[in-house]
Amino acid sequence: MSIAELTARRNEIMATVPKAILRTYDYILKRRKTGQVLSFVKGDARTCSVCFKILEPQLINEIRKGAKMITCQNCGSIFIWKNEDI
Ligand SMILES: [Zn+2]
Repeated sequence: MSIAELTARRNEIMATVPKAILRTYDYILKRRKTGQVLSFVKGDARTCSVCFKILEPQLINEIRKGAKMITCQNCGSIFIWKNEDI
């Protein structure tokens, strides 16, 4: 895929993401050397996939519900719930 095509796809995807989340994402991304902003949480792992902090069951439930954006208190990554089958 060319850079122009990738840019077009990125813009397409960004149009579907709420502005507040994009702002937070960019804010974190600028402060990361690794480029890793998202922390994928699985039901069986129960840790932040970036810093490996152990997460409380209450927090896991909130992430699973996905009603609001939750960031890691330790490393600031945005939590994303990961289904086993993805
Ligand atoms: Zn973390």
